[in-house]
Amino acid sequence: MSAYFPERGTEKQLAMTTRFAPSPTGLLHLGHAYSAMMAFTHAREAGGRFLLRIEDIDVERCHLEFEETIQRDLKWLGIHWQNGVVRQSERSKAYQQALAQLSERGVLYPCFCSRKEIQEELANLTSAPHQQHPIYPGTCRTLSISEREKQLRSGRPYALRLDTETALKFLSREATSWKETDATIFQIDEFLHGDEIIARKDIGTSYHLAVVTDDAWQGVDLVIRGEDLRPSTAVQRILQGLLKIPLPSYLHHKLIADENGKRLAKRSDASSIANYRERGFQPLMIWNLLGLGDFAPETLRHS
Ligand code: GLU
Repeated sequence: MSAYFPERGTEKQLAMTTRFAPSPTGLLHLGHAYSAMMAFTHAREAGGRFLLRIEDIDVERCHLEFEETIQRDLKWLGIHWQNGVVRQSERSKAYQQALAQLSERGVLYPCFCSRKEIQEELANLTSAPHQQHPIYPGTCRTLSISEREKQLRSGRPYALRLDTETALKFLSREATSWKETDATIFQIDEFLHGDEIIARKDIGTSYHLAVVTDDAWQGVDLVIRGEDLRPSTAVQRILQGLLKIPLPSYLHHKLIADENGKRLAKRSDASSIANYRERGFQPLMIWNLLGLGDFAPETLRHS
């Protein structure tokens, strides 16, 4: 396989499984469609499997109506998936098991801080660098046992955070780096954002925990997604190492721009597939627009 696009006429890679894992919080837009096309194409060219997973753990933000439009738009683009649809909202038992495994390893701690408290604490740290992803100052990691127990007894809601420093002591070199399909090797250190939340107060799991649990369960061995998610790979790599699950390969693709070269606003309905369809675009035109015309499904050429 080439760095970015699948190569034709080369030996087929055995049993490649890719996936598209949208959160149904809005319409399918061009950027997401690109991820889906890339994952679908890589699997198809390798004679592998392409799966669809609906990441709907956040019940407040996710809606069935968006799941339906995502499925409709994927089919319109000629994208089909194997093995039905997996919904994360139906997988909480698996996440609880993974959480219990992490707990047993002693790498989680309850965090009682509110967002406001964290911000205030960070503002008080004069040496805190201004970062896009502020590092959690570790307030609850250093609570005394008696203070922690007092808080737990009071029934105050808490999230579970990863004690990153302790976790890293358990991991091999392999588990603290990853290789992308273009052979670039990334070390997790540069992407570490402190002690990330592994189980949220409200839903008892997190994007990171759910994604690694499901990628392993579904046998996904090549994760294809936008490069905005590359930083998330660090904590996900740590979780894979701790849970002793297989380490997939990664392809983080560039984020795409619209036809005027402007970077797409993630939630802009103007760049939704539905909007392109209403404007008279045909599916093949979308594949061409995204530079993947050579890989468009045959059926689209004759429709
Ligand atoms: N659910 C995530 C999103 O819609 C993608 C997760 C992933 O590909 O790892 O942004």
